[in-house]
This record gives sequence, structure tokens and C-alpha cells, in this order.
Amino acid sequence: MDAARSLAAVRPSGNVPELDGARLIAEIRSLEDHKSALAARQARLSVAFDLIQRREQRDRGIPAGELGSGAGAQIALARRESPARGGRLLGLAKALVTEMPHTLAALETGQLNEWRATLLVKETACLSAEDRAAVDAELAPDTGTFDGAGDRGIIAAARTAAYRRDPRSVTQRASHASTERHVSLRPAPDTMCYLTALLPVAAGVAVYAGLTRHADTLRAAGDPRTRGQLVADTLVERTTGTAGGISGIEIQLVMTDRTLFQADSEPARLPGYGIVPAGWARDLLTTTGDTTGNTAGDAAGDRAMNVWLRRLYTAPGTGELTAVDSRARLFPAGLRRFLTARDDTCRTPYCDAPIRHFDHIIPWHRGGTTTQDNGAGLCEACNHTKETPGWSSRPRPGPRHTLDVTTPTGHTYQATAPPLPGTPARQPEPDLAAAKSPDHRRQRHRRANDLHRTRRQNQPAA
Ligand SMILES: [Zn+2]
Repeated sequence: MDAARSLAAVRPSGNVPELDGARLIAEIRSLEDHKSALAARQARLSVAFDLIQRREQRDRGIPAGELGSGAGAQIALARRESPARGGRLLGLAKALVTEMPHTLAALETGQLNEWRATLLVKETACLSAEDRAAVDAELAPDTGTFDGAGDRGIIAAARTAAYRRDPRSVTQRASHASTERHVSLRPAPDTMCYLTALLPVAAGVAVYAGLTRHADTLRAAGDPRTRGQLVADTLVERTTGTAGGISGIEIQLVMTDRTLFQADSEPARLPGYGIVPAGWARDLLTTTGDTTGNTAGDAAGDRAMNVWLRRLYTAPGTGELTAVDSRARLFPAGLRRFLTARDDTCRTPYCDAPIRHFDHIIPWHRGGTTTQDNGAGLCEACNHTKETPGWSSRPRPGPRHTLDVTTPTGHTYQATAPPLPGTPARQPEPDLAAAKSPDHRRQRHRRANDLHRTRRQNQPAA
């Protein structure tokens, strides 16, 4: 931390341009070498930390199959990364330290950076430890080999060595790769998104051929849409079963009443996607929606949607979402909806994964209550990690909902709920938001600050 601060305090001076240009480039290179060396050091420390955790967990009587759980998550918190990435970074570190000493040495001396070392680890992941070490030895003594080579060059060299060493692993790798098939969604600019499928090549080619063939048929019949548009529309139609694309599912749009009714420009939030512009959110609801929720005899046919308004109340200034509590052990639907709207994604710091569990921050069996304050949305992996011995959480008083996550090493990390649309990103001081008396409390819960909207498309009329 101190080293980082003192480095940041040094400002480049541009007094003597010719001299300084050369010096600055030299320093940029030298810093790059340092970054690689530091990454190597982080890898060594990560592996050492994992060993210590396993030893401690074994001493506590944790079954062999679960040893090491939570180690990646702690490294993630320390590195300000998501738990999933923390696990991958630990895997990378283990491969470098235990199986690829030459690659690690190249990282330490700055000949490879962390990303390029990652490529070598990835490309040799299918090999046995012995073969991997052999590939490492074959590639790395040639320290000059990768100087000037692009990332593809590195991948090609690693693949060639790996295939040569163990041709069978290529087929094994292919069969393993097919188990990794999945579909993912990530945001693109201008309220678009990438829906990506990782598929075995035969399946992918078949899907694409099916889509393009249908698009070509429509084009031949005079459809004015472009081929690209037709392929995309066909994908949506065939997957959802409706031309409009949304059937039998809910999407929840969180926006302020001002955005909905007064043409305000405060952006809205679409769970699973992120922030969307105010005008776009209004259009989505008003051009295809039916705000009364009454769709009988709607002329829009299969594009008609049920639009439900659900009011969310937030405290002015702080934007803390407020709602009712429950005596039940399981979170009832209303409270679950509340937590989903408040937390948006998993509450573990740096984790962006979708919410899968509604967690009692202080566990029920330790007297934790089923309340908004003691509830938090977590993803599956983080919920599992939280159950690991040594981990604990507790809600912390604050203007906006905040919780402390304490790890087995005693480090504490804070997670604050994201700002709702219409509230400042930065929190005011706690006492500004404090309610003075029960009478003031009502005013504190400003009316209909936020509207939680649910849309559901109608089934087409029979
Ligand atoms: Zn998570």
C-alpha cells in the first residue's frame, strides 16, 4: 500500500522532452517488469496461503474433499476480484508454482506477463502434471522464444508442444471441452447485449445453418429485414416460442416515478443487464405494454404485455430501500422481491453473479431474524463459501444497507447495496438520514420514490 502510494505520488515531469521521452519509456518497461515480478510473487503467496488453509481446515476435522474451500474466495477479496476469478487465479498460481517452474521464472524476470503466463497454463491444462512440466521445460529455457511473439504465437507454441507430447489428450480435451458448453449474456453498448453460446462445433454449425436457412427463405419471400436482422429475430422467436420474444417470463425494471411519469432523465435498472436510459425504459413500457394490466381484447395481439407497477419506497437522500419484515424463517415472496431490488446482484464484494439464494446474514440458528436488515441476496458459490468455518457476516448500521464480511484470516470487507435509480451514488453522513421520531419516520419514507415494475407477456389469445 505504501509502495503503491509513493509510486502514485511521483509525477512525470516533461521539462526536457527529448531526454524525458527515452527515460519515460525506459521506466514504463521497468514498471512492466515489476508488475510481472509482483504477479509471480502473488502466485507464490497464493499457493502458500492455500496450503496453510488446508492444514488449518484438516486440523478442524473438515473432510478431505472440502479442504481448501474458501481459499480462492479470500484471495479474490484481497485482489478485488470476483470469487469465480479468485478461484481461477489460485488455479493458475498452483499450476505455475507446482508444475511450471520455468514459466514462473519467466514471469518473475518480466519475460512473460501474467496474461501470457495464463495462456501457457491454459494450453497445457489437458496434460498430466509430468507432461505439463516437460512442455514447460521445452518452451521456457528459450527465454527469447516469446520475445516479440503475439499472444497467438504463444498459444501456437504451447499447443504444438502439448499435442506432440500427448496426442491422445487432444481428443480427451475435446470431450472435456463439450462439458463446458453454456450460454451467457453480457451487456453491449446502446442497450444491446451479447447472447453467446459456447457449443460443440457440430451443434453450433447446425444452429447457425438452421437460422440462416430460415432467414434466406423469408428474404426470398420478400421480407424487408436484412439477413442479419432475420437471423437474430429467428433466434429469439424459436427460443422463446413467440414473435415478440418475451413469453411467460417476468422482467423487472426499476425506475423512479419521475422517470416514468415526468420524462425525467434518471436512468433505470434492468436486473440481469444493468443501467438503461430513461427514454428507452419508457418506450419499452409504453409502446408494447398495457399499463392497466387489463389485456382482454387487446389489439396488439401476441405483443401485448401485462405491466404491473410495484411501488418501492426509499429514504430521501440515502436511497435506502425500506419495506416490511417477516417472522417466518424462509424469506416470503415480498421480502425476496425487496432484496432482489435492493441488492441487484450477489452481495459479496466484487461478485457480480446473479442472486440465487436469500441468506440470513446472521444465521437463523444463531438468532438472526428474517428481516430486510438481516437478509442479503447471494449467488450459489458465495452462499456455499459463507457456510465454510471461519467466515461470518453481520449487518452494519449505515444510511444504505451495508454488511461486513469477515474471512478466516480476520480480514473484514464491506459490501454496500448499490444505489437505486434516483439516489446519489455516494452516501451522505449517517446522522443526516437518521429518523428523529416515529412521526418523522413516515416522511422519511418518501412516497413512491421508486417504482418496481414487472412485465409479463400475455399468452396469445386462443
Ligand atoms: Zn457471489
